[in-house]
Amino acid sequence: MPIKRAEKTTMPMRGAQMRAHDFNEVNEGYSRFHAVFEAERCLRCQDAVCVGGCPVNVPIPDFIHAVAMGEMAAAAKILRSANPLPAICGRVCPQETQCEAECGLGSRFAPVAIGHLERFVADWERTQPSRVEAKITRREKVAVIGAGPSGLVCAGELTRLGYKVTIYEALHAAGGVLRYGIPEFRLPKEILDWEIGLLKAMGVEIVCNVIIGKTLTLDDLLGRMGYAALFIGTGAGLPQFLGIPGENLNGVMSANEFLTRVNLMRGYDFPEADTPVRIGKRVAVIGAGNTAMDAVRTSLRMGAEEAVIVYRRSENEMSARVEEYHHASEEGVMFHWLTNPLEVLDDGNGWVGGLKCQRMELGEADASGRARPIPIKGSEFVLPVETVVLAIGTKPNRLLTKATAGLATNEKGCIMVDAPTGRTSKPLVFAGGDAVTGAATVILAAGAGKRAAQAIHRSLTAASEPVLVGN
Ligand code: FAD
Repeated sequence: MPIKRAEKTTMPMRGAQMRAHDFNEVNEGYSRFHAVFEAERCLRCQDAVCVGGCPVNVPIPDFIHAVAMGEMAAAAKILRSANPLPAICGRVCPQETQCEAECGLGSRFAPVAIGHLERFVADWERTQPSRVEAKITRREKVAVIGAGPSGLVCAGELTRLGYKVTIYEALHAAGGVLRYGIPEFRLPKEILDWEIGLLKAMGVEIVCNVIIGKTLTLDDLLGRMGYAALFIGTGAGLPQFLGIPGENLNGVMSANEFLTRVNLMRGYDFPEADTPVRIGKRVAVIGAGNTAMDAVRTSLRMGAEEAVIVYRRSENEMSARVEEYHHASEEGVMFHWLTNPLEVLDDGNGWVGGLKCQRMELGEADASGRARPIPIKGSEFVLPVETVVLAIGTKPNRLLTKATAGLATNEKGCIMVDAPTGRTSKPLVFAGGDAVTGAATVILAAGAGKRAAQAIHRSLTAASEPVLVGN
């Protein structure tokens, strides 16, 4: 076996000083040369455990082998056969804890840069003429609720299986968190629009500005509107708050509100766009997940002179992707580890005048398996900030589940399902993604959407033979 290069081929990226003040994409993507060079590092293991590390089981060695041979069309076909959102997943998936964590090279060298190669192949595909076409072969129609990754992938898979699918989306644009949460500098909207465009070309209809549970109910869809089955992919968009004094002051926002104002409502373009985003010179973002990193980096791009992360545990316990953390550090974000917010202080006019915090130390592991933060007495101090953004987690909004009799949820408001199929307690209704798991990842949501689509197909074909209605 040839000796493999120890290091990954570096992803070209824009310099930190330049990128920290605009919304253009940070990573620039591999060239064809980089991609082939990196693909040659793959060992093509007989027992390719990397495939098991991918929630949608992309045949990783096969697509990488095609890249190494310079057969990009074949690579794209293999990739898309398993993952309908490769240009998105190649940019935002936490590969370091999934496929790349299982890579056979990883025990001695850096793992193959599977995510960077996925992105390269998907971006190559984007330069080619689209060969997608609508092929409705079944009489039954299916409705999908929510146009985030779980709903989009479910709709795509059902369409591939021949169904007419309509997605109902509450917001005025499709994409879910990919649209309103993840900023342009990580996932350009052009990429999202392209992936959604492919689904539309396959025949998926997307109806925006419809809140299921308010505008229409599940029973309307299953009854008078004649859908044979439903998939719920409504996500976990309800932000959590700390419950500390001063949280209702002007200048305190949830990360969801902040990012939605900027990403979806184009707050960066005010007054050309209608939605303002008032941001102080100094911003504290509370939390250390992907949402927190996105919010803190967005603060810098919106003009903050200082942007800090405040997190009650240490760097080792943060849940953000390592790449996002490194990018944030390079861009000048500061980190207050082991720091717990106690109170948001009033400046005397109803606006944020500072954030009172306390230092922490780590104790034994708690129920989450992470070290428990313990307050250090007498360590209180005030962070001088004018804006506080809370990124401490989200949970599912109960609007739809409360309005729907017979749809079982757990104590956190997550829809309860049979995991392999996504089948809920309500007949003909399936669910997946964050609405079921609570806040998780794009690829897990995509995987759930795909499995549910296959289960819907099995349940509809068990009842009747396939009916060809023109092709
Ligand atoms: P969502 O993406 O939340 O989509 C749900 C959709 O349903 C929304 O469009 C919503 O408007 C719509 N909806 C809700 N209720 C209704 C209703 N009643 N009627 C009609 N429509 C409705 N994951 C990663 O893997 N990598 C990352 O880097 C990453 N970064 C993230 C950054 C941020 C800021 C956030 C918030 C999350 C991030 N995640 C990341 C998590 C990931 O985006 C989610 O796990 C994923 O989007 C969940 O997909 P979903 O389809 O379940 O729900």
